[in-house]
Amino acid sequence: MTTKTTPAPIDSGKGVSGNWGREDEDQVLERLELLLSEHDPGSMPAEEFWGHQFDAGLAWINFPPGHGGLGLAPGLQGIVNDRLTEEKVSRLNVARNVIGHGMGAPTVVAHGSEQQMERWLRPMFTAEEIWCQLFSEPGAGSDVAGLATRAVKDGDEWIVNGQKVWTTLAHTSRWGMLVARTDADLPKHQGLTYFIVDMRQPGVEVRPLRQITGEAEFNEVYFTDARIPDSYRLGAVGDGWRVALTTLMNERVAIGSTQLPRGGGAIAETTAVWIEKGLTDPYLRDEMMKLWCEAEALRLTGMRANQARALGTPGPEGSTSKLHWADLNKRISTFTVDLMGAEGMLLPEGYPFVTPEEAGAGRLTRQKSFLRARANSIEGGTSEIMKNILGERVLGLPGEPRVDKDVPWKTVPR
Ligand SMILES: Cc1cc2nc3c(=O)[nH]c(=O)nc-3n(C[C@H](O)[C@H](O)[C@H](O)COP(=O)(O)OP(=O)(O)OC[C@H]3O[C@@H](n4cnc5c(N)ncnc54)[C@H](O)[C@@H]3O)c2cc1C
Repeated sequence: MTTKTTPAPIDSGKGVSGNWGREDEDQVLERLELLLSEHDPGSMPAEEFWGHQFDAGLAWINFPPGHGGLGLAPGLQGIVNDRLTEEKVSRLNVARNVIGHGMGAPTVVAHGSEQQMERWLRPMFTAEEIWCQLFSEPGAGSDVAGLATRAVKDGDEWIVNGQKVWTTLAHTSRWGMLVARTDADLPKHQGLTYFIVDMRQPGVEVRPLRQITGEAEFNEVYFTDARIPDSYRLGAVGDGWRVALTTLMNERVAIGSTQLPRGGGAIAETTAVWIEKGLTDPYLRDEMMKLWCEAEALRLTGMRANQARALGTPGPEGSTSKLHWADLNKRISTFTVDLMGAEGMLLPEGYPFVTPEEAGAGRLTRQKSFLRARANSIEGGTSEIMKNILGERVLGLPGEPRVDKDVPWKTVPR
């Protein structure tokens, strides 16, 4: 995951419509002013204000009342965010807990019980509890449904053994979204169950993985007889794939449709270098403007995808933005270091081994952003997989052969 400013999660799963009327808008405005009059954001720690925002139902406006929302159209969240930005309310809770906000919240609200929403959503919103995604394994990335981590029932608990990998922010996380195999006799998609696992318990070992940037924003995670209460299961036993799809769909939209200002994001660095260096070459200007136009087209497409997402569960269109974003981000960051000349080859800050508190490229230098962009076509589903999804689900082309789909998972060679 790389996004710094994910849009509000949309899939409430509780039948919220995408439209709103004057009355809804008035209700939101009234609550906003009440929140600000009762709790001055400038006079308290940010976490405390975010907590009040959650309690006022203004965290994720489409979520059910009592769980951070008002059950209203998600598009109204924009009004809240704009007004709070005017009041200088920090949005660091989103940046710190990017996986919780982008993927955890929509998954918990779509599939969780009342008690589960009550337990997890508030500290997730305030970023007092960070979340990570425990899907990928050494032998199961693109084919995540083939995963091998096992969960075995033991009374009211499950015992988990196995290994996950590329787990962004596992080192700061309190909770992990875990998909594990609970029945190896069934075909791969059917034998999976979705759990929320406490990352701070014995039996969960987090080891950092150093990336090309020198940083370790992701990790390997080893489970050795880790225990999960059955009450931390999300969805039915064997229904883990359906729950995981909610997480994955939201991940693609969150990555590909980040809401940036016009000319913002990676292209802002390009234009900044152009101005700083006083460049004038007409050929280079032409190249830069082509990239700028593509970035603007992607930004507008992202806005449209977010509007569409406001009407329900994200569909395959999230894959379009994700695919284009990954390719464009690489081209823009390459062009930026090219414009920098020899300076673009240097890492002035050195190559220290750090485990950052936030994921993504937002705080990296231009040179490291260039390096970090290499991961864009891998994270959140590779570009080849995005093309497969688009080919099959949008263009209606024949699917690729899937010989292991209907046979018991345990009989598939690995
Ligand atoms: C920065 C970063 C952060 C990440 N964060 C997380 C995280 O927080 N949690 C998590 O669970 N995972 C995370 N991942 C893992 C990521 O989801 C996987 O790396 C990705 O899904 C690809 O899986 P893989 O690495 O096993 O590659 P593989 O699946 O082994 O793919 C290898 C190559 O084969 C290609 N390929 C595979 N199958 C097909 C096919 N059917 N058709 C065509 N080509 C194919 C792929 O496109 C790729 O080029 C992260 C990855 C990165 C880079």
